[in-house]
Amino acid sequence: MIQVVQQDIKNVSLPVPNGLDEIVNVFGSPCGVQLAAVIFKQPIGAIHATRCHVKLRDIAQSVFDEIAATGSNPLATSVSSWNLLDEYDGCFCCRAIRGQTRHYSTHSWGIAFDLNAAHNPLASIPPASFDATHPFVFTSDHPIVKIFKKHGFTWGGEFQHRKDPMHFQYSTGY
Ligand SMILES: [Zn+2]
Repeated sequence: MIQVVQQDIKNVSLPVPNGLDEIVNVFGSPCGVQLAAVIFKQPIGAIHATRCHVKLRDIAQSVFDEIAATGSNPLATSVSSWNLLDEYDGCFCCRAIRGQTRHYSTHSWGIAFDLNAAHNPLASIPPASFDATHPFVFTSDHPIVKIFKKHGFTWGGEFQHRKDPMHFQYSTGY
């Protein structure tokens, strides 16, 4: 079952693929994908831009633009959710899922983003709820997580098996 996300800003829709076959149907073969630039309105650390799959570009740009928009941080109406980003840890990378040499990571299609990796390590269990004293730690009610999910992404902190809370991918069931 393919869920279609309607983008209110640019009125584009892109199916959220479920499973490997649908990922290939929507985004093509891994690793040889066409990439396009996503510009950050403010740098994350020293990083000002990234590249993702060309078909996901407008949706990814909308996600980062919304994060940058003032007022989406529940801590203070005048503070941008951008302040909840500590590190940008990459999107496109042609590689296997860590520990599973035969399966491509969704990073191989340029449809996954890693953020705040040092605060959200692979296989760690996310806390139950947002804690203002640890603003870079993702939780199901964290503003960054909510924005990614609103735009059709799956958060790795909600993976069924090994959790990957730094990770946001535009697909389900894989
Ligand atoms: Zn990742």
